[in-house]
Amino acid sequence: MTSSARSRPRSRDDARMKPVIALLGPPGSGKGTQAERLRDGLGFTWLSTGDLLREARADGTELGARAGEYMDRGELVPDDVITDVVEQALAELGDRPILLDGFPRTVAQAEALGRELDVVVLIDVPDDVVVERIAGRGQGRKDDNPDTVRERLRVYHRETEPLVDHYEGRGLLRVDGTGDPDTVLEALLDGLGHRRS
Ligand code: AMP
Repeated sequence: MTSSARSRPRSRDDARMKPVIALLGPPGSGKGTQAERLRDGLGFTWLSTGDLLREARADGTELGARAGEYMDRGELVPDDVITDVVEQALAELGDRPILLDGFPRTVAQAEALGRELDVVVLIDVPDDVVVERIAGRGQGRKDDNPDTVRERLRVYHRETEPLVDHYEGRGLLRVDGTGDPDTVLEALLDGLGHRRS
């Protein structure tokens, strides 16, 4: 990052200019896998709020410590905390299109963003597939133990699923996430292509 970019004042206008796509879906739906592929294939900047929080934690910041308590319980970090993190990250990123992975997760977060998202992709995966996938993925994440996964799923249905209604009719693209990653990516690109044409 150049020093001029760093010293640029934080502004909501920065976030307004670049196209922003958000990936929604339960834990284990493959948001990260697809985000990585879209970054590599289409040049998106991938912004994962979970990764940002895990990095803050590893760096021993106050934000990281505070967020960590919620993460370990499978709960959501408070809306004002995460919204600040995302706004700052959006303002600091360059002009490439952005892929939000894991944000927004509540209607309040969507409303706090201060701009419309260009496309919201729902990667749809039923709970039993989520539980099976996470049990098998072995990433060593503290919040991947079965009790916490169940809590994360409950939180998803309670807090995040209402966003599906919120975005229905405002650019929601629903993709079946049960297939292998290549099949899901194909469906996703197909849907995005139709949006552009
Ligand atoms: P993820 O890597 O997306 O599964 O996120 C891991 C954890 O980080 C979640 O279970 C939450 O505790 C926290 N987190 C990530 N994104 C958000 C968000 N948008 N709002 C609140 N908490 C979040």
